[in-house]
Amino acid sequence: MMQSLHLLTLVFYTSLFHFLAISRSQNQPNYLYNQQKNYEGSSDLIDLKYHMGPVLASPINLYIIWYGRWDPNHQSTITDFISSISSPAPYPSVADWWRAVTLYTDQTSANVTRNVALSGHFHDAYSHGRYLTRLSMQSIIKNAVTSSNKRRALPLNYSNGLYLVLTSHDVQVQEFCRAVCGFHYFTFPSVARVTVPYAWIGHSGAQCPGMCAYPFAWPGGGTPPRGSGIMGPPNGDPGTDGMISVIAHELAEVSSNPLINAWYAGDDPVAPTEIADLCLGVYGSGGGGGYVGVVSKDSWGNGYNLNGVKGRKYLVQWVWNPVRRRCFGPNALD
Ligand SMILES: [Zn+2]
Repeated sequence: MMQSLHLLTLVFYTSLFHFLAISRSQNQPNYLYNQQKNYEGSSDLIDLKYHMGPVLASPINLYIIWYGRWDPNHQSTITDFISSISSPAPYPSVADWWRAVTLYTDQTSANVTRNVALSGHFHDAYSHGRYLTRLSMQSIIKNAVTSSNKRRALPLNYSNGLYLVLTSHDVQVQEFCRAVCGFHYFTFPSVARVTVPYAWIGHSGAQCPGMCAYPFAWPGGGTPPRGSGIMGPPNGDPGTDGMISVIAHELAEVSSNPLINAWYAGDDPVAPTEIADLCLGVYGSGGGGGYVGVVSKDSWGNGYNLNGVKGRKYLVQWVWNPVRRRCFGPNALD
């Protein structure tokens, strides 16, 4: 009985990680990345390569498009996280975590920038309805930069702008909760006039927290079994705290692979395995295969591994460190 239970758990986790693995950059619904290997300790099988394209080396001006209806508390959890990327905080901090991303360079020897500035907000009250396709994201960005109210519109910053479309809990997105929790790509001139990198991340709270807000929600729904590793969200909302790690994942990947021609593993640019995909589900030493790894607990028992501004705490997955050639984060024990 115990054995079959273990087997079930194993099968369950395997499919969970297949699911989580595909918050990636392109339209390829059937692509499943094999996450059965634990990359935390090994580097032999990783063929992460540079494909000659640019990385985001100039200081990034990040613009957030809040799509739908947002709780101000959830918004400040997210904006404080963005501010933490380039701000000092007690070790291990979000800025310490970002340092691994800045190790990636392009053929001009330029590194991914250390500076990510939150440079503008746009509130979009369902301009494209409550069901969005992947392509809708580009129209939503176009709408934000061409809004007739010039005081509200975002600048169309094609030299160092990065656009983040965040959809509220009641907005459905093509493949969200079925294949992806977020993705990054770039706009096409035919839709948005210029090419700018962007990322989308959805609030999964009402739709699939067990998938996109793991480990703050149990994938099976209901009460998690003992020893499941499910933990409380450090900022009070599973959907938002779950988004933080997906936002971090997409920011790391869009910065190191903004035009899908810089850093990725695998031979197929249609289904690239990028620097955060390699470390999916790993938040601390020993993580992988359904175990998040060694992370800290706050005084209420909520899980976190990084410190941010204003005393914030966040739980963020690790990324592939090209120098150490393994998944790594500042909270590592070694
Ligand atoms: Zn990814």
